[in-house]
Amino acid sequence: MNKPVHNFQKSFGEFFDVAHTFAFWKARVALYAILKMLGAGKGDEVILPGYTCVMDVNPIKYLRANPVYVDIEPKTFNIDVSLLEEKITEKTKVIIAQHTYGYPCDMDSILEIANRKGIPVIEDCCLAIGSKYKGKTVGTFGKAAYFSFQWNKPFTTGLGGIAVTSDDDLSGKIKQLCKEQLIQASKKEVFMLAMQLALYRMFIYPGTTAFAQSAFRYLTKKGLVVGSSGTCEYQPEMPGDFLKAMSSVQACSGLRQLKKLKENISHRKKIAKLYDVLLTEKGWMPRDYDTSIMDPVMVRYPVRIKEKNLALEKAAGAGIELGSWFECPLHPIETPLGLYDYKLGMCPEAEKAAKEVVNIPVHPRVSEKTARKTVEFITRYTQVP
Ligand SMILES: *Cc1c(COP(=O)(O)O)cnc(C)c1O
Repeated sequence: MNKPVHNFQKSFGEFFDVAHTFAFWKARVALYAILKMLGAGKGDEVILPGYTCVMDVNPIKYLRANPVYVDIEPKTFNIDVSLLEEKITEKTKVIIAQHTYGYPCDMDSILEIANRKGIPVIEDCCLAIGSKYKGKTVGTFGKAAYFSFQWNKPFTTGLGGIAVTSDDDLSGKIKQLCKEQLIQASKKEVFMLAMQLALYRMFIYPGTTAFAQSAFRYLTKKGLVVGSSGTCEYQPEMPGDFLKAMSSVQACSGLRQLKKLKENISHRKKIAKLYDVLLTEKGWMPRDYDTSIMDPVMVRYPVRIKEKNLALEKAAGAGIELGSWFECPLHPIETPLGLYDYKLGMCPEAEKAAKEVVNIPVHPRVSEKTARKTVEFITRYTQVP
């Protein structure tokens, strides 16, 4: 393995105090490796919230296992634990606890049920780097966890992901899989990613992000950039070059980001708290979560509004960075839900959230002024309780 990747894995493990780390080209590869090495295969069931990214469901499908969706609890958008137990069958192999928008899941309840049933829990920390539950960092509760470093995530290396575990047995198996099956990204892919990272550093600030993101999406569809998802990834068939390792370009970027992670986290907390205050001043309801248990680090700050589509349409022109996700139970809106065993009506709260939730930025480029401007913009619409 090359040195930057080795160093990045080591530093990341130290930061989060986990024994074993495995870096990949994307987080979905990390999830695939964990699921496969936990033995998920044909006919097995994997439980996850019905309010997620389709890239979380693909690895389940690639293994010929079946996703089982649980509806969410409307305040934190995390799995509704009161619905969890009834979804467990003798075929349940794994439960995925996704910490949505940065809110940690109710880990005590999830682990109590899972332990009683003898089912491993893995944590999806793609949107929750640094969040804490009862004083303990997410990613350290389950059998394993994974993080994404894709453009939209709290910590980015352009594309990238990591699997973490403190379980020696599972770690040995993932190590073996990496040795036998991982391939390196092509020179062209790595070159294009390096160019994008350079451009990203130069150009992306709040006012341009919406434009830059739609440009990226468009160019990706045309095959001109290494986007986070090619068209073939909206199909439950594993692409031939799926199992890719992290490149040293990503690892070097990750090492730089790691140095700034503490600052990044405190900035996110500060801006989220500012939004709480500013929204309250406008007569809106701020975030609503149990502060005695949760210490969330938000990836974005979700708000529910009546006029989601209209607000998204107007935002770009107004220079406001407004996020649309999740656009449907299995984001993005292009996902052919049927191919992923999702039937409309399965998760009513998730479907409602998808219609109402927009999210506002808290990342390190958001200043207090941007936050004020964003709140001015969003409060022109109607909040949904
Ligand atoms: C982004 C995301 C993923 C996938 O991450 P990639 O690095 O793009 O594979 C998985 N789960 C959630 C919740 C995400 O937001």
